[in-house]
Amino acid sequence: MSTLTPDSTQPLIFELGQEGRANRYVETGKPLDAFLPSSLLRSELPLPDNSELDVVRHFTKLSQRTFGIDLGFYPLGSCTMKYNPRVNDAMASLPQFRDLHPYAPDDMAQGALQVMYELERNLASLFGMAAFSLNPSAGAHAELAALLIAKKYYKERGEIRRDKVIVPDTAHGTNPASAAMCGFKVISLPSDERGRVSVEEIKKVLGPDTAVCMMTNPNTLGLFEDHIHEITAAVHAAGGLMYYDGANANAIMGNVRPGDMGFDLMHLNLHKTFTIPHGGGGAGHGPIGVAAHLVDYLPTPLVVATPKSNGDAMGSPSDRLTFALDFDRPKSIGPMRSFWSNFAHAVRALAYIYSNGAEGLAKVSQLAVLNANYVRVKVAEFLEAPYPEICRHEFVVSAQTLKKATGVRALDIAKALLDHGMMAPTVYFPLLVPECLMIEPTETESKETLDRFVEVLRGIVQTAQSDPQQLFDAPVTTVVGRVDETRAARQPNLRWEAQRG
Ligand SMILES: *Cc1c(COP(=O)(O)O)cnc(C)c1O
Repeated sequence: MSTLTPDSTQPLIFELGQEGRANRYVETGKPLDAFLPSSLLRSELPLPDNSELDVVRHFTKLSQRTFGIDLGFYPLGSCTMKYNPRVNDAMASLPQFRDLHPYAPDDMAQGALQVMYELERNLASLFGMAAFSLNPSAGAHAELAALLIAKKYYKERGEIRRDKVIVPDTAHGTNPASAAMCGFKVISLPSDERGRVSVEEIKKVLGPDTAVCMMTNPNTLGLFEDHIHEITAAVHAAGGLMYYDGANANAIMGNVRPGDMGFDLMHLNLHKTFTIPHGGGGAGHGPIGVAAHLVDYLPTPLVVATPKSNGDAMGSPSDRLTFALDFDRPKSIGPMRSFWSNFAHAVRALAYIYSNGAEGLAKVSQLAVLNANYVRVKVAEFLEAPYPEICRHEFVVSAQTLKKATGVRALDIAKALLDHGMMAPTVYFPLLVPECLMIEPTETESKETLDRFVEVLRGIVQTAQSDPQQLFDAPVTTVVGRVDETRAARQPNLRWEAQRG
């Protein structure tokens, strides 16, 4: 058996390889130093010895062992698993973007900088912020950036006593985690009986030690915080900053703006709202936006534009501008990562914005809300609705009563859905709803798909009443069946094993 450790006496062949089998299709007959100086060549390079066909089969099989939006319905609440238009990829793959070196000087990268500039300007106007930095790579990364900004802002104002971050109990787990990572003390705020932040409750915890209040609106129950103006006013009166977790922007795009709600800082998950493939820990893009008083603190670089001296008066406004990366920002918290974030994602997001236009984006959110309410009303016929009112892009139901009657839990329902070629909703989140299923259908699904989902779910609830064991055994059609979740966490076996044939 071969090992994964390079061993200079043995070619590394992994389980599927055979010595001497590699390179069959790329044989040139010439030694490598005919192409590269021998000083750059390694004498030992243990690589797996596989034929091209075996490698293609291996990766194609792996791709078929997973589930994605391109295979079926994916109502994973809070994750906005919508269709990713292929035109985005076509744009991101244009050689002028794809092959550009990150160190290319600004004058050779004007088109790429223009993409970043126009994306930034569009996001600022869509969400009512003074400026965005495209630097952070994900939502959580941008949350951390925002809290670093708050920290620096208070330090410069001599307000170092502000060390508390208020986080509602419906918040995504990354909010308290980011606050704690940044050295803040987290105050968890219980939701009221309407599933929202109560103005009275928040006033009780506000004070001279308040740094930031992090909110998601609509929150993760899919409910719009209808007292948001009173909440932002109270936090501002206490001298605190309001942070908007914009991962749920698919509910509001083009309809309401966090800036108008009174938020000082926000992030967007371009990989959720703006149609970029995500899941499985893939590359994301999480721009951070701020109101005017915090622009100087944004992570570098920002893309700036100056009028061209010989600009074409007939062209589009951008044709009259010269673009540059601006690093000379003395108050900035500095870059959050290397280079210019996941640039191909900036191209995808801008392609999505331009292919929809302002009205189209507003309609996207309206349809996402309509689809969620359509499914919500139907699912309430057979599963408990703890907050039975009009939702935004997502809603929650509970399997608590079903569990008491049949022993079937939210987890069993989730696993059973997989056998019908549908991804499970988010389960057991938010934490305040027992046996919670959080469903986000998104705007890109047809009525037929939504109807089928409702009927499959209804059938699963009926099976729970007649034959619960069938659900405890699910899933039975997936590559991996029911896993022992405790053992998977405590004794993970992460070793890859070859599948022949
Ligand atoms: C997804 C999500 C995040 C975190 O975003 P990442 O890009 O995964 O780091 C934060 N808040 C909410 C509400 C989310 O849904």
